[in-house]
Amino acid sequence: MKKNRITIIGGGIAGISAAIHLIEKGHIVSVIEAKKFIGGRAGSIKVEDTFIDIGQHVFLSSYQNFIHIIKTLNLEKKFILNKILNIPVSTDKKTYYIKSNIIKYPFSILFGVINYKNLNLINRFKLIYGLAKLKLAKKSINDSSFLQWLKINKQNDQIIEKFWKIICTPAFNIDIDKISYNSAINLFNYMIFNSKNTFFICYAKESFQNIFMNSFTKYLKKNNSNIHFGIKIESIENKKNGIIKINAKKKIQFETENLILATDYESTSSILGIVSNENQSNRSAIINIYFWFDSIVMHEDFKVFTDSKIEWVFSDYYNKKNKDTTQRLIISLSDANKLLKHSNEDLINSYEQEVRKQFDIEREVETTKSLVIRSPKATVLTNRKINNQLKSVFVCGDWTIEELPNTMEAAALSGKKISEKYF
Ligand SMILES: Cc1cc2nc3c(=O)[nH]c(=O)nc-3n(C[C@H](O)[C@H](O)[C@H](O)COP(=O)(O)OP(=O)(O)OC[C@H]3O[C@@H](n4cnc5c(N)ncnc54)[C@H](O)[C@@H]3O)c2cc1C
Repeated sequence: MKKNRITIIGGGIAGISAAIHLIEKGHIVSVIEAKKFIGGRAGSIKVEDTFIDIGQHVFLSSYQNFIHIIKTLNLEKKFILNKILNIPVSTDKKTYYIKSNIIKYPFSILFGVINYKNLNLINRFKLIYGLAKLKLAKKSINDSSFLQWLKINKQNDQIIEKFWKIICTPAFNIDIDKISYNSAINLFNYMIFNSKNTFFICYAKESFQNIFMNSFTKYLKKNNSNIHFGIKIESIENKKNGIIKINAKKKIQFETENLILATDYESTSSILGIVSNENQSNRSAIINIYFWFDSIVMHEDFKVFTDSKIEWVFSDYYNKKNKDTTQRLIISLSDANKLLKHSNEDLINSYEQEVRKQFDIEREVETTKSLVIRSPKATVLTNRKINNQLKSVFVCGDWTIEELPNTMEAAALSGKKISEKYF
């Protein structure tokens, strides 16, 4: 096989995945990243000399392509790769668990639901019926509403609020009433009804920047490859001799024979010179609100709320592990377009009140710091296609995977697919 030297633009999960798969096939890669940090939308920001993730980056044990990155870079110890299903769900200030000690699919899910006392027994059986129907369901030519399908299949409001909504809204980053039937089938088959890699929730023990930056850079170096940070590519052009000219800001130029654009949809369109009419109505935002408390206020690693606007809440792993008596909570708000119009101050005030109410935090407990991180372009609402005519220029990224919502797994899968298809 001919060994190629391949340039990848974008150091997000898709770019990292493409680089790893190409190196595994014996190629040499050069990654060019606009920012000074790695990870893209799954990245971190620097706050007072420490890196914190721009949101809690959660994945499932079924994210086989994302986990391939973790394994290749020898990073398993840096992640909680859960083997036990355990989701604490709070309703009316009482905590219930979707919990099962059984590892094997489908029993893990079956027992998780049977143990889930947030639903009465009849509703738990109805939920098992709904899950079984979804597992057997076939995609339809005339795609319809998933919510309607749930209702037709015995899933009442209680079951929808206390199960389907808390899983689907963060997975798709849109409200359940906007999710289509076919995309729900795709998601559940890939991520949840997966006999090899069943449904456990996993997350990192520290920031993605700390975890990936050194290990990925070292991995590239070991394989005669490299990464350049802080170089924003503006355009590319095919020259007659088969060389692609890459034009960056400040008149920096590169040349390559093979190019992968592992950039988000808008950047990809702009680099290719295609006009894209993207605006906020085509995207779905995620807002993360961070609170630092001078005491431990949540004892679980994460918790889901069915009757509160705080939805999914995550605790920082390291403080807990170091037996620190302070705690940082991340309030992760999906489908957050409507919240973008509120000021940071308003968001902090209203969500702090709600956190204090839900966790019964005493007045004496101080909120020592708070922070809002807005990601208006977190995901796109419908996946995009780009008509790329340029020779030896290939495109990947979460938005190119039709069968999955925009996730780290879609990004990792896209990187793998591109390396398999073209090189
Ligand atoms: C706040 C937030 C929370 C999320 N939570 C989760 C989660 O819990 N679980 C999950 O699975 N998914 C989550 N997602 C979605 C997930 O992060 C993305 O789907 C995934 O990271 C996309 O990866 P990507 O490589 O395709 O694109 P990106 O991450 O967008 O990577 C593209 C890279 O290209 C670079 N780039 C762009 N233009 C140029 C240019 N002109 N020149 C050079 N470089 C350029 C960018 O800087 C970026 O690093 C979340 C997203 C956000 C924003």
